[in-house]
Amino acid sequence: MSERKVRVRFAPSPTGALHIGGVRTALYNYLFARQHGGDLIFRIEDTDSNRFVPGAEEYIIESFKWLGIKFDEGVSFGGNYGPYRQSERRDIYKKYVQVLLDNGKAYIAFDTPEELDAKRKEIPNFQYDASTRLSMRNSLSMSKEEVDALIAEGKQYVVRFKIEPNEDVHVNDIIRGDVVINSSILDDKVLYKSADELPTYHLANIVDDHLMEVTHVIRGEEWLPSAPLHVLLYRAFGWADTMPEFAHLPLLLKPDGNGKLSKRDGDRLGFPVFPLEWHDPKTGEVSSGYRESGYLPEAVINFLALLGWNPGNDQEIMSLDELVKLFDLHRCSKAGAKFDYEKARWFNHEYIIMKDDRELAELFMPIIKEHGIDVPMETVVTVVGMMKGRVSFVKELWDTCKFFFVAPEEYDEKTVKKRWKEDSAKCMTELADLLESLDDFSLTHQEEVVMKWIEDKGYHTGNIMNAFRLTLVGEGKGPHMFDISSVLGKEETVRRMRRAVEVLK
Ligand code: GLU
Repeated sequence: MSERKVRVRFAPSPTGALHIGGVRTALYNYLFARQHGGDLIFRIEDTDSNRFVPGAEEYIIESFKWLGIKFDEGVSFGGNYGPYRQSERRDIYKKYVQVLLDNGKAYIAFDTPEELDAKRKEIPNFQYDASTRLSMRNSLSMSKEEVDALIAEGKQYVVRFKIEPNEDVHVNDIIRGDVVINSSILDDKVLYKSADELPTYHLANIVDDHLMEVTHVIRGEEWLPSAPLHVLLYRAFGWADTMPEFAHLPLLLKPDGNGKLSKRDGDRLGFPVFPLEWHDPKTGEVSSGYRESGYLPEAVINFLALLGWNPGNDQEIMSLDELVKLFDLHRCSKAGAKFDYEKARWFNHEYIIMKDDRELAELFMPIIKEHGIDVPMETVVTVVGMMKGRVSFVKELWDTCKFFFVAPEEYDEKTVKKRWKEDSAKCMTELADLLESLDDFSLTHQEEVVMKWIEDKGYHTGNIMNAFRLTLVGEGKGPHMFDISSVLGKEETVRRMRRAVEVLK
């Protein structure tokens, strides 16, 4: 058994946008598959047609493409275990439902919703199980002839799993250890419905995990209650020997308080809970996404990886490749992980700094163009290299850097009051003349010449530099002065200086 190739799956139901918790589940599956040289499968669990949302499947695929999480096989990726969309596997499930019926592990039930409701009223805490099933209308309480006749008549039915009472069922969970529940608390779950000829989640999930040779089921904590039932199903099929190992990941908790992280928390506190912007086809509602909010996919991956796991030391910045090496399913926490969106911003800031200047410039260029500005890529690369440490998002680069591309129209009043002295106009005219006379406008040469001029004239360096900054930037911020002037070039620098002198006198 231990020689089996590791095979894991991410198996979303296409019921809407993919929640960031689902992204983390997929990420952990990905890391686990990669580090074991295994396969990651992408399966679509769409047997509940009532909850199907058009566009959701495409949305999920696009999300992972953006994030750089690659699947080895599955819907849209191909592979030898397909089809990977459950709605295309009806015949397979029918066959396995029959297996359970034939070996007496499941039975046919005809109870209508009205009959079930009536029972619930009659018996407090009614549960369809060993204690009640013989008083219901099913193939255990009725004769074979009766059952066959009803089916021949076209009566709709469900197939229920026949759970034996009073047995301790053990789920051996990699993260939670030995989880034990007594089978008497389980009801005889519906596995199949004749009405739509489709299995329910439980049956399809187990059959597919088996047929797709899944070795580890890594999924969100919300599925833990289903696990004992799944264990019983594996046994009923006689597949206990190849039953996957389970790992139920901790919940993602809201940033404030203890509940589960929801979309409402995101709306309330101003952060996305979806990887990409989502347009709900039913309500028309638009929900923000990490991509559209300006997050880099590497940053999203990194901060998600740390929600429920850590490398055992205080290392925080890890690339996807490093995560593959360091990730350890056994080190995942049982306790819920608090979602910290301030931390998400911090990660983005760090990844912006690490990002190659040219790549950043390419992301920034469209924003510059939107402002109607035409500037060579080389200039943007230089500017971005200087300024990226000051922002958390590419879109913030505009406000931080716009003085490189647009001359100031006004001069910040406070800065003028503080920095524009009696002799500033005179000094700036002198400096403009000096700079205009330079043939070599390189940063180092400018600096050399200007510093010597300040010394010769006996000027105060701080005063000169502050006034110089005000003329070029319009306020008191920005990087080193000669960084700015050398990017602006001689003509623009001198032009800005002369205009400032004129306006400020
Ligand atoms: N279809 C389930 C979901 O939407 C899959 C649960 C599982 O991984 O077993 O999350």
